[in-house]
Order: sequence, then C-alpha cells, then structure tokens
Amino acid sequence: MSLDSSASGPVTSSTFAGYDQSEWRRRPFDLSSPLTNPRHVSEIHILVNYCSGKTEAVIALTEYVYGSIDGIGSSLGTYAVMTMDVPWNLVKDRIGGTPVSATMITGLEHDYLDRLVKDVPKVDTVVGIGGGMACDAAKYFSGKRNCSLVLVPTIVSVNAYATPMAAVREGGAVHYQGNANPQKVVIDYKAIQSAPKRLNTAGVGDVYSCRTALFDWKFSHDKTGELYDEKVAAGSQHLLDKLLSNANEIKNVTERGIRCLVEAHVETNRLQQVAGKPRPEEGSEHIFFYALEELTGRSFVHGEVVGTGIFVVTYFQTKQEKTVAREMDSMGLMFRPRDYGLSRDEFLNTILRMKPYSKQNKMFYSILDAIEVSRQDAEKLYDMLSAPTN
Ligand SMILES: [Zn+2]
Repeated sequence: MSLDSSASGPVTSSTFAGYDQSEWRRRPFDLSSPLTNPRHVSEIHILVNYCSGKTEAVIALTEYVYGSIDGIGSSLGTYAVMTMDVPWNLVKDRIGGTPVSATMITGLEHDYLDRLVKDVPKVDTVVGIGGGMACDAAKYFSGKRNCSLVLVPTIVSVNAYATPMAAVREGGAVHYQGNANPQKVVIDYKAIQSAPKRLNTAGVGDVYSCRTALFDWKFSHDKTGELYDEKVAAGSQHLLDKLLSNANEIKNVTERGIRCLVEAHVETNRLQQVAGKPRPEEGSEHIFFYALEELTGRSFVHGEVVGTGIFVVTYFQTKQEKTVAREMDSMGLMFRPRDYGLSRDEFLNTILRMKPYSKQNKMFYSILDAIEVSRQDAEKLYDMLSAPTN
C-alpha cells in the first residue's frame, strides 16, 4: 500500500472500535484480495494519514512518561485506581493526590467489570496500575465511563498497556473489546525493577516473535500471493535489530532495557495496525502457545511459551534454532520447557498438535502448512531444549 494517499473523513479514536483481535487469529486471511474488505481499507487510510504525519491516530495521542509515577495523581482530577496488592503497595505512597477508590482487581469476567462500572463513584480519570489484568480492567472501565485513562504497567511481560483493546472474559473465552486510548502511560522504573526479572524479560517473546512471524508472512506471500508490505516488514526487522543490540540491558532489566522493550511493544502494535493484521509480529510460533493452552488447560507466561514456539518453528523454517536459543538467552528470556514446568509428554503432544490445530482453526498460512511434523522431530526438539546450558 502507499503511505502517501490521503484519508477521507475525520479521524477519531473510535475508528478502531469493533476490530476484534480474536477474530484476526481465527479468520483465515482473504488471500485473493485482502484489501477489499472495507474495514481494512478504512483502517489503513487512517494509519496512512498517521504515517504521513498529517493526522494523529490512536497511539500518537498517548504520552509515554519514562521515569517515575511520583506526584502524578495530583494532576489527574478525581481518580479511581484499578490495581492489585503488590503493585499498589509499590506506588501508593508516591502517586500523589488521593484516589476516590482503589479496587484490587480479581478477574476480567464481564459481569465483574460491569459491576465496577456501576459501583465506582464518578471520576475524571481511571488509573490502571499493575500487570495485564489491572490495565485491562482500567481500559474497560474508561471505555464504558468515557473517562480519562492512565496506565502504569508495573511489569512489562505483556503489552496490554500498549494495545487499545481489553481482553475480557466471558464463560472462559477471551474477547478483545473496546478502544481504550490512554492519555498517559507511565513507566515507573522502580516498580518494574522490583518485580522478578523473568516477568519482565518475558516481554521479549512478543517482540522477538517478529523473527519467525516475518518468515511466515514472506513465505505465505511467495506461496499464496498474500499481500506483503515491505515497509512494515522492514519496520519489524528494525525492531529485532534494536532488541538484540540492547540484549544485555534487557536481560538486566536496566532503565534503558525497560524503555527499549516498551518502545518495541508500542511499535509492534503500531505495525500490526498498519498491516491490518497480526502478521508483523505473530506467526506459527504463536500456534505452539495456542496448542499448548488448549492441550493442558493451564495458563502460562505468554512470552516464555512464545519463546519456545520461536525455537520450535525456527527449526522447521531455517534450522537456525541454535542462534535463536543463544539470542533469547542473551536477553534473559526463559523459554525451555523445564523453565515453566512442562513435561516431556506435554511438549511432544503440543508439537504434534500444532499442524492440526492450525488447520482446524483455519489459521494464517505458515511453515506448518508446508511441512510434516514427525514424532522424531518432536523428540529431537525436546532433547535440544532439555540439554544443559552453561
Ligand atoms: Zn503474543
């Protein structure tokens, strides 16, 4: 697509509303003419304007504050906090002002969130402080109440603070809802650094996944003619380079490492929106994650499992899995099955499930569509991943 065309109509932050991310995953791409979907066209136009600098869209309106949360509360008018015990204790004496309420979020079930919308007193701003759950609850709340939103992620293992949609649960299923647009995202280094390192380095998974995702996207373009955007792909590649050149900072969760990870999350999210699909960041490595959760019914730290997926599909894509392991180790990403308590059988079954999972769920075309996955492959992968590291 051209980055210079002009958009018609006003650009509002609600333009992205209704874009259901779970649908992106499940829906096979229309390979013949993906751009004829009017929803795609309108979204791309908005981002076209954003790219050319003529108009600001969703992400551009968010101010990222790198440093500390100290005193921010006094500039928010009346505010409600959505958080959890641990993160709240880290910041409550520093945030400033007096919150009207501080809710310890216990879930993301629809009914529960709607009750909060009803019960919390009227406020100018809602502040989500914590991990994905607190941020998602605050996003949902601000969408329903139409009040200002400030997000303070206290771990960067997931990019919930950088995406406009909240993951809401209904009857066990996850739906991506709404179009929250934070006025501010505050990166409080002290709070983030007080969390266990691996929870932050897990944030590497959803950026380093660009490596295998880009392979799949190009592969699909060559095999099926799926639309491939060179500029977006180059953007993803640039992120990978940036990530690796900051590997040590990321591994040690330094201020620079945190900032690099946050900027990469924001940028991967933007690239996905420009592409109109998750391709720049999400490929068959994520199928390992989906298949694993389906098989075990357990939940895992997303980025770590995605890391395993990256190792696994690299073996099928380019045989560069040793390089990938070395690079993930250099950034402190835990990705070996033993790191998160996965048994040999669970691992083998997941590998064997990936291809059928992709087919049954009509997922995007990937390396999995072009290969056979044998038990021998699975065992070999397990052996490589369970070899001792020094
Ligand atoms: Zn992911």
